[in-house]
Amino acid sequence: MSIAREVAQPVGPGFAPYVWAPAIDEVAVRHGVPREAVLKFDQNTPALPGVPQIPLANSMARLNEYPDGTYRELREAAASYVGLAVDNVVVGAGADDLILLLAQVFLGPRKRAAIDAPTYALYRIASAGRGAEIVAAGAEADLHWVCNPDNPTGTWVEPEEITALAARSPRAIVVADEAYVEYGARSCAPWVDELPNLVVLRTMSKAFGFASLRVGYALAHPDTAALLTERRAPAPIAGPAAAIATAALRDPRLGDVEATVAERERVRAALTAAGHAVEPTATNFVFLESDEPLAERLEAQGIVVRAFPDGIRVSIRRPSENDVLLRALGAEPGSSKAREATVLRTTTETALRLTLSLDGTGRNRVETGIGFVDHLLTLLAFHAGFDLELAAAGDLDVDDHHTVEDVHAALGSALAEALGTREGVTRYGSAVVPMDEARATAAVDLVRRPHAEVALSFGGDRVGTLAVSLLAHALERFAIEAGCTVHVDAAGSDDHHVAEAAYKALGQALRQAVSVSGGGIRSTKGAA
Ligand code: PMP
Repeated sequence: MSIAREVAQPVGPGFAPYVWAPAIDEVAVRHGVPREAVLKFDQNTPALPGVPQIPLANSMARLNEYPDGTYRELREAAASYVGLAVDNVVVGAGADDLILLLAQVFLGPRKRAAIDAPTYALYRIASAGRGAEIVAAGAEADLHWVCNPDNPTGTWVEPEEITALAARSPRAIVVADEAYVEYGARSCAPWVDELPNLVVLRTMSKAFGFASLRVGYALAHPDTAALLTERRAPAPIAGPAAAIATAALRDPRLGDVEATVAERERVRAALTAAGHAVEPTATNFVFLESDEPLAERLEAQGIVVRAFPDGIRVSIRRPSENDVLLRALGAEPGSSKAREATVLRTTTETALRLTLSLDGTGRNRVETGIGFVDHLLTLLAFHAGFDLELAAAGDLDVDDHHTVEDVHAALGSALAEALGTREGVTRYGSAVVPMDEARATAAVDLVRRPHAEVALSFGGDRVGTLAVSLLAHALERFAIEAGCTVHVDAAGSDDHHVAEAAYKALGQALRQAVSVSGGGIRSTKGAA
């Protein structure tokens, strides 16, 4: 035995280090599948990343300085997000950091930790790591770990069940881990001022889509929160991570949660229809009960899930990705292949994520930080019959230029990707849109000949904060990235309406061009 192991503090019985599911490269090599084909359903993180709601350059500009060790702004943002006071909040490098902190403060040899099974592995690791004895949930203990909703089963209890446990065992610490609470369960947070032995854990890793940032927080009675803060590391969260998390908590944009919940129900229904046992879940994953070696079987096909003794846990991803998993489990996806695409772009100037669905259901969410651009793109999507979800954070403190150009470029790339082979689309579209004192015409050809002729005639320089001269250039970028020919003319006596008419006309023209004609894309020069 090495000297380090010989002199280390002893761990309690049942200690085993944390193990991640295999990485993409490992699976690719092990099973001889191409690395692009490996799909990971094991992390319980959203399929799409959260978008920083502040320019990245700002938060990167002070890398030589320590972050504010009180994390006052982050704590204030978390407090207002959950409806508590700043003194109720303790921050950590992920909920994991706070789990280890709680074990450090409240557990040790001769202490008992109550843990349900199966549940999140870190409770056992943290407790046994401090030399504590692990007992079953419901037994008398110094600390009760309660995961609600539960990982890996997805099941949940009402918060009153947890607060009743805290009320009847006032000398024991009760930890309610609410990492997945945004996906459907009710929170214990309103009880923390009343119950000083209750600690609620939250994270930016799940519904917010920021697992890589490592930001979590605990909610507790101010005395309990002060004790935990005294014992924590001086500055556990990186400055840029704290800044991004603060902005997200101040203005939470949890639109993906709704889509994930809908998709979770679709996946559960398809699995159930195929004869699998899947309990209702209030999380972003489903647990499929089985005593067969399903995880191994899936991994051989490049599909990574989390294996448990009595089943597998599968995180919800994009619909087209979930369909791959469903088919591998013998289930019928029951949805035709969506004409959709997601484009991610992160530069030091702009961070953006854009999801475009050509066969829309009226879901448009456009947030670029430039009100008039949001308005124009929403109109375009509406008139084109697209679903457009766009979240962008650009360096608007410099000016609008990078953001306007990058979002139009991303819209073009998404259109190109969603169109796929372009087979079967109508190809041409055109529209004339009159408004009170403005008029626009637009014409589109989807054959792969990127070209733009854009003439927008404005009387002034700006509408809202936007320098309107940027729009013609931005529409050109859109056409080039989309790989199509776009002509747009607009003129009139009101600049706001000139721009609106142009985007509406382009939307109408796109609607016709992308519609499925059945005849295939036709060109006198041969196949397109
Ligand atoms: N609690 C539960 C129940 C979890 O499933 C996870 C992540 N797998 C965590 C906490 C860790 O969260 P964080 O990323 O904030 O450390």
